[in-house]
Amino acid sequence: MGRFFPRLNDTVMTTKKTLQINLKTIPETGLPVAIDLGPEWFGRWHEEDPGLEFADARITGLVHLSKHGHDLLVRGSLSGQMELACSRCLESFAAPAAIDFDLLLAPRPPTAPAEDGELSLTDLDLDYYTGEIVDLESLLREQIILMMPLKPLCNETCNGLCPQCGANLNFATCVCKTDDVNSPFAQLAKLKT
Ligand SMILES: [Zn+2]
Ligand SMILES: [Zn+2]
Repeated sequence: MGRFFPRLNDTVMTTKKTLQINLKTIPETGLPVAIDLGPEWFGRWHEEDPGLEFADARITGLVHLSKHGHDLLVRGSLSGQMELACSRCLESFAAPAAIDFDLLLAPRPPTAPAEDGELSLTDLDLDYYTGEIVDLESLLREQIILMMPLKPLCNETCNGLCPQCGANLNFATCVCKTDDVNSPFAQLAKLKT
């Protein structure tokens, strides 16, 4: 999909307060949606979800929606950077992030399907939409959560914090003895890195 550049449909603006897309507005040929999520969008998300682990980000990309019978195929690719705290030194830094996804959204059944279900769409993540509206906003939020590295590192060679005095060893040296591997702090540091 990355080869063509889409014309943004006027009915879909990423600056809108929420990215709710009515299935009726999706033509047979599919609907490309240019994504450009900046501080305003992330700020609003952060207000709703103060536990969010990143404060600021800029993510752009493209999502393509197409109907297949009653199902909706959502293919997308997002990239950008997000402000994260380094898992070693705790300093925040701009981490590059990218994700490609293929999601199949089916109309939500009246009752939840059985776990061992007949759904054999193994290549695709199956999700549901309710009514006529696809909530692209929450779908994008899910993908952005998935983009976050599990252990963000400001640099592969980050020296982290001294387990004894807490000094940031990227910027400072300390006089702590480092041979006390049995100290509780050293054990903790091992677990964390
Ligand atoms: Zn670091
Ligand atoms: Zn120290």
